[in-house]
Amino acid sequence: MAIIDAVARIQERIQEACIRSGRNLAEIQLMGVSKFHGIGEIEEAWHAGIRLFGESRVQEAVEKFIPFKRQYPETELHLIGSLQRNKVKTALSLFEVIQSVDREVLISELGTWTTTQDKPLGILLEFHTGEESKSGFPDEEHLYRATEKVLSYPNLVLRGLMTMAPYTDDRARIRAAFRSLVSARDKLVSRFPSCDWSCLSMGMSQDFEIAIEEGSTLIRIGTALFAERDL
Ligand SMILES: *Cc1c(COP(=O)(O)O)cnc(C)c1O
Repeated sequence: MAIIDAVARIQERIQEACIRSGRNLAEIQLMGVSKFHGIGEIEEAWHAGIRLFGESRVQEAVEKFIPFKRQYPETELHLIGSLQRNKVKTALSLFEVIQSVDREVLISELGTWTTTQDKPLGILLEFHTGEESKSGFPDEEHLYRATEKVLSYPNLVLRGLMTMAPYTDDRARIRAAFRSLVSARDKLVSRFPSCDWSCLSMGMSQDFEIAIEEGSTLIRIGTALFAERDL
């Protein structure tokens, strides 16, 4: 399947999930997760209408997206993998949003480096909802403290939450993970009502329809977009 056909197929599935759950299609953003894929494929996805891309590793993203963004300046790029402190400065020059903010020391680092630049940085707090993955804040108290920390830096802009569901075939467990992200979001909204909590980044190739049914506003799709073309 060509990337353009894969995008069309994914969009149909998004639409069906929206109809099933009474949601508005316009609320759901489709991110192309381009880790392990080259510039040629990223360009194909761009021509199929994808404008938002996600990468897991800073170095790989630098190699591909510094040239790509020069050619396609409307590209938006998010970091979705763990960020080491020694890569923070490089990351700031490339990503519009860091989705994988999972510890307070990283917020301090991002906040300090962005204080002297004129461009604000978007932040999603990553919440731990699945047993297998180790990343993410472990509970709501940690999210509250992280929120206060983000608010103390002028150039960090909170945009919402991100999670990875457990890697399992058990759809009830996946759904429960997404529901716990929604529940955390609701508590944050009442505790910090003036912040922007509108982005709920949840759902990947295997589980994005469940994520949409549960309220996702941003799905992160790699395999279904880039890697199933030979199947
Ligand atoms: C790789 C990755 C994705 C995409 O996963 P697929 O199953 O290939 O769609 C989404 N989110 C994160 C955080 C990832 O690391």
